[in-house]
Amino acid sequence: MPRKLGEKPPLKVYYDSTYVVKSTRETVTKSLLVAKLIEAGKAGKVVLEAPKPASRKELSVIHGKEYLKTVFEDKKGFLEVGPWSEPLLASILASTGGMRDAVAEALLTGRSGSLSSGLHHARKDSGQGFCTLNGLALAAQVALKKVKTVGILDLDAHFGGGTFDILQAHPRVRLADVSVDSYDAWELADPKRHLATLVTNPERYLEETDKALAFLEGIDFLIYNAGMDTYEKAGGLKGITRAIIKARESRVVAWAKARRIPMIFALAGGYKWGGLSLEQIAELHLETIKAVAQD
Ligand SMILES: [Zn+2]
Repeated sequence: MPRKLGEKPPLKVYYDSTYVVKSTRETVTKSLLVAKLIEAGKAGKVVLEAPKPASRKELSVIHGKEYLKTVFEDKKGFLEVGPWSEPLLASILASTGGMRDAVAEALLTGRSGSLSSGLHHARKDSGQGFCTLNGLALAAQVALKKVKTVGILDLDAHFGGGTFDILQAHPRVRLADVSVDSYDAWELADPKRHLATLVTNPERYLEETDKALAFLEGIDFLIYNAGMDTYEKAGGLKGITRAIIKARESRVVAWAKARRIPMIFALAGGYKWGGLSLEQIAELHLETIKAVAQD
């Protein structure tokens, strides 16, 4: 149906069935359920689009040659989410490519995202913590071809030590990382460009999120790692309620919108070990997509 004049185009979110493999890991399974909810109209006006998978060549901007050789050729080894297999590699390449394509879409329309997770612990020369390739770092490098400064806001429950490892020295990248768990914590290299905060009191969580946004003031493009594992029932910090998560998503989106900063999101963490079903985790991730779609 043709759009009415002045009507906003639907939010384009990158995903295809290649993202999903048979596994016990949420990282490569939950996107299917999120996609189903989107297709059922539960996230508002959103369309799903298949990304172009990431290529070995483009990944060489963020990962070392030897490590990429292992990822692409080591058929007997392990990728971070399971034993090496063609479908698992295809899944990781598709969901990493989704981040790159989301950048292009956001530069055109102001917003996009990808149903990707398993990104922020991946380092230049190794995978870590269920993350094989760092799609956040790739997205930043792609955006930097068109804009001056990129900010990465990482609100996953855990720190993004991999993103820091790859991008710490980049003068046009700012990292703001607010975590509730010290896993993969990193040391600030430049306090003007790097902010890392560990929140232990849930009542301070939104305030620290606001501080992270204030720290990113002046950026030209926002990459948001929207982990749901901060939520108390999804493996996060006791006291971080669904209402807090919802408020967090609105604040991030409102902040970018008020400044007309193009933004993209990734799903990031959200696990069953807190007692939720995979369906409930998928539904939780809709908070991010709804907030971005409504804007
Ligand atoms: Zn996490």
